[in-house]
Amino acid sequence: VGAAYGGAVNQRSQGAIVAARYGALAVIVRSMTTGIDDYPHTGAMRYVDTVAKIPACAISTKGAEHLSVVLKQHKDIRFFLNMNCQTLPDEVSYNVVGEIKGSEHPDEIIVVGGHLDSWDLGEGAHDDGAGVVQSMEILYLFKKLGIRPKRTVRIVAFMNEENGVRGANKYAELAAANKEKHMAAMESDSGGFSPMGFQLHGEAGKVAHIKQWSGLFTPYFIYEFGNGHGGTDIEPLAKQGTTLIGLSPNSQRYFDYHHCALDKLENVDERELEMGAAAMAAMVYLLDHYGI
Ligand SMILES: [Zn+2]
Repeated sequence: VGAAYGGAVNQRSQGAIVAARYGALAVIVRSMTTGIDDYPHTGAMRYVDTVAKIPACAISTKGAEHLSVVLKQHKDIRFFLNMNCQTLPDEVSYNVVGEIKGSEHPDEIIVVGGHLDSWDLGEGAHDDGAGVVQSMEILYLFKKLGIRPKRTVRIVAFMNEENGVRGANKYAELAAANKEKHMAAMESDSGGFSPMGFQLHGEAGKVAHIKQWSGLFTPYFIYEFGNGHGGTDIEPLAKQGTTLIGLSPNSQRYFDYHHCALDKLENVDERELEMGAAAMAAMVYLLDHYGI
């Protein structure tokens, strides 16, 4: 689940830093998944200026188990690394934005989004095609049901979440420069699985106000209204006083697909994806109708 990933991912993100301090020539990390398979999982890692930038790679869980067995049998084993990854120069890219203007309070914005970019091993279907599609679906559902929001509902497909959150940082920077008032920001970036609840972050009174609606979601088994991380792409808006809301889907299988070749369209369940979109649309409706 998400908490398990959070507890283990420092081996990938900071393993090279720690290994280099011990004089390691390279670091080989077991992929961040409980699935036992042959798919290596990539992801962000970093260096600090004070230590050598040693090669770092992640191998599949099957590969890691094999390596562990071989290491126990042969203490003098040699490992050959042949890597061809490289960092290419930056290119100009864009967030993609669409909105329905509010009928009564057009200057009050409810922003909802996911991220456009993905790791190149897979298609990024769960991470984060799901979040982008679910966000778009909210506007579609509003139009289909003939709901004209009182406040502006804006959908943003953020660029470059995985490699530096630069689309989201630019969005928040422009929101501040243009003096836009973002009442709430919602994000879906935990996979297209059955919705279980929402993680909330913001002023205590506003968070409590949103929690009052939890009973409306309970019949759909969406009952986890916790205080937590809203989402990486909406996080930069927090210092403008925006209340953050992160969709919490069932994360038991997410890390089987996360950042690997298995993150492809056929591994997203259409019905579960739709239930997440419906939960998000219901939350946006409540935010728009009652305010916070
Ligand atoms: Zn993501």
